[in-house]
Amino acid sequence: MNRFCDAFKCGATVQSGRFLCPNHWRMVPVATQQTINARYRAGRANFGFLSDLVYLQACVDAIDGIARSEFGAGHQAGPGSYHRLLRVAQRKATT
Ligand SMILES: [Zn+2]
Repeated sequence: MNRFCDAFKCGATVQSGRFLCPNHWRMVPVATQQTINARYRAGRANFGFLSDLVYLQACVDAIDGIARSEFGAGHQAGPGSYHRLLRVAQRKATT
């Protein structure tokens, strides 16, 4: 099953389980890539990564960083699915 790259305005299809297309993945800082990979593997069995603040923050950082470098400083990718998941997870963490 294919899914789509999560980078802003990128319509590339990516393999199931992949976050970004190869072009966009290469733009993510290595430290952020490592965080995403490690937390994704840790939470994959029970989809725990969907409420993992560290994972979701790293995804949001990656998406926003790509949007800034492609569309200019001050540009944000805007509320995508990871931004929403992060807000939900943050609310859960504080209640
Ligand atoms: Zn892409």
